[in-house]
Amino acid sequence: MANLPETIAGILRNAPDALIVCHVAPDGDCLGSALALALACERAGVQAVVGSADGVPEAYRYLPGSERVLPSPPEGRFHVGVAMECSTLDRAGSFAEALSRSRTLVNIDHHLSNAGYGNLVYWDTSAAAVGEQIHAIIRAMGAEVTADIAQCLLTAIVTDTGSFRFPNTSPATLRLAADLMERGVSVHAIVERVYETRSPGSLRLVGQALARLTLSPDGRTAWTTITPQMMQDAGALPEDVTGIVGMLRQIRGVQVALVFEITPAGIRTSIRSRNGARSNVIADVFGGGGHQGAAGFTAPGPLEEVIARTLAEVEKELRAFP
Ligand code: AMP
Ligand code: MN
Repeated sequence: MANLPETIAGILRNAPDALIVCHVAPDGDCLGSALALALACERAGVQAVVGSADGVPEAYRYLPGSERVLPSPPEGRFHVGVAMECSTLDRAGSFAEALSRSRTLVNIDHHLSNAGYGNLVYWDTSAAAVGEQIHAIIRAMGAEVTADIAQCLLTAIVTDTGSFRFPNTSPATLRLAADLMERGVSVHAIVERVYETRSPGSLRLVGQALARLTLSPDGRTAWTTITPQMMQDAGALPEDVTGIVGMLRQIRGVQVALVFEITPAGIRTSIRSRNGARSNVIADVFGGGGHQGAAGFTAPGPLEEVIARTLAEVEKELRAFP
């Protein structure tokens, strides 16, 4: 593991081009990390293309280079393909095929499960954000951490640590964040842009989702559902669903919170947990993945069946925590 950043840096530096791909439903960590790596590549003379099958949510369009993110895969074969925190290659969505065509495929992840695909696997579950791993690669490339790169990496860290509130926030995370701030970027400005700026539709959706929340009889599990009709009534976007599950987890006594959303791909389920309950273990049963405190999966419907099967797995997980 120690020299993986060096090895990856060497491969990138010597490549004419690279395709760097985010996972579907991209978050601040994968977008910030992909854009930071692309900016560093360009400074090293490597032509870098960033792809995101689900585009760039409005909240992240301030990121330098975000306007150049491709929503569908380009033709041809790249020298290096980088899958950014995709635990399986299919998490790259419509870009999976283009990535697998690349001469050298690099798999960079910090989730608790990873399928280990690719020619190089830089998998570090101790990283608070994949942005920390990208910082190590950029340093190994000998590239300068410009203000633009710092903006991308700080966004990755701020979003994956829940603005430094999650238990993955270590002294090293704070030190790196401080270093990045010294490059001229601000945690406050990122939080203001990502979390404190919302559309009316997104708040209307929160209202509807919270109004229909259900609690288990023992009060340890809370869940709600999102339907296409609710999205339409609220005037909400797919990315506006993010964040609702964390609100359910705030309820006193709740150890596992879930949001079940009906999407064209199936029932997209978000899980958040605390006090030792493992979200990733529940998600794994349905072929998904993530972290101990935050995980997800998408399963074929119908909705009521997915809810019943998921609640049975939550029950099993909670038996370990009386
Ligand atoms: P979300 O609930 O979509 O915010 O996702 C929470 C965490 O679980 C993130 O780290 C995601 O990358 C991860 N995750 C969500 N869905 C999946 C999936 N189908 N497979 C693997 N990881 C997932
Ligand atoms: Mn991440």
